[in-house]
Amino acid sequence: MKHRNQVFDNVLDLVGNTPLIKLNKVASKFKGSFYAKVESFNPGQSSKDRIATYIIEEAERKGILTPGATIIETTSGNTGFSIAMVSIIKGYNCVLAVSSKSSADKIDMLKTMGAKVYVCPAHVSADDPRSYYEVAKRLHNEMKGSVYINQYFNQLNIDAHYASTGPEIWKQTEGKITHLIACSGTGGTISGTAKYLKEQNPNIKVIGVDAFGSVIKKYHETKEFDEKEIYPYRIEGLGKNLIPTATDFDVIDEFVKVTDEESAHTARELARSEGLFVGYTSGAATQALKQLGEEGVFKKDDYVVVIFPDHGSRYMSKVYSDKWMHEQGFFDSINEAAAQNIEYIK
Ligand code: PMP
Repeated sequence: MKHRNQVFDNVLDLVGNTPLIKLNKVASKFKGSFYAKVESFNPGQSSKDRIATYIIEEAERKGILTPGATIIETTSGNTGFSIAMVSIIKGYNCVLAVSSKSSADKIDMLKTMGAKVYVCPAHVSADDPRSYYEVAKRLHNEMKGSVYINQYFNQLNIDAHYASTGPEIWKQTEGKITHLIACSGTGGTISGTAKYLKEQNPNIKVIGVDAFGSVIKKYHETKEFDEKEIYPYRIEGLGKNLIPTATDFDVIDEFVKVTDEESAHTARELARSEGLFVGYTSGAATQALKQLGEEGVFKKDDYVVVIFPDHGSRYMSKVYSDKWMHEQGFFDSINEAAAQNIEYIK
């Protein structure tokens, strides 16, 4: 990985080495210092660039991936985008099986990055041959020499963050970090980063962020998979209705749950107060920070690092749309919300 004032061979040279940026406003009433690891500075604008490059380069090293082969994954989100980007540079075909719930914008973005997209019906069960899991499995079996990334169940997802995100944070904080706050979706980011950091200093507290409607927090506390915890929620990218093996529960001290509404408002606040235009889960992670701050968890000398997984531009039709916020009931009145910052000249 190089530094930004150099000349680069291709866009992949810019993966990783993201900045740690001080949060000056959102947490100013709490004791301690607060910093964001802003992953939107990756070329694909999210932390998933790290796992895409790492997993693909591991497969190359092991001789599993050969030139012109196909890489398969089941996501319309950040991971799909990053795999598509890496595939273009390295000359692989990228095939993504996604749910018909995915927005047209997301599908267009993946196609723009050269991916072949299979849109699979959202209403069928996971074991139906038309589900995106089954379609991905079938394509993987049919295509000789293909690689299935399978991020929720791939140990390399943890290893990628152990090899990069963890060491970067340790170096950037000069070993002063006392708390890590990170969202847990596949769990790769928090698990790999925490594992590395705890090897340097076992006293570092690691806090995962989970959604209401997800099984993860309860599973961490009780080792029980409680289906009653599962219900729909709006934040994309954190929490889950299954237990991913890419989550190492032993390196996480506790989970904090956050609501869709508070996370959305906090994401907007990050733009207005810190000038950081970041995604919904960055709002969720900062919301968790605030809840812990209110509980008086942080002390004067604490050095808290929060991971901001992606960029705000991916949420224009959601969190950053007044209309969407209103439809969710997150604003009292759409006119009231919009009027704060807009004037129509007639
Ligand atoms: N935020 C966003 C926007 C994501 O796409 C993801 C990945 N699902 C996460 C947070 C969580 O990262 P991880 O999968 O490494 O737990």
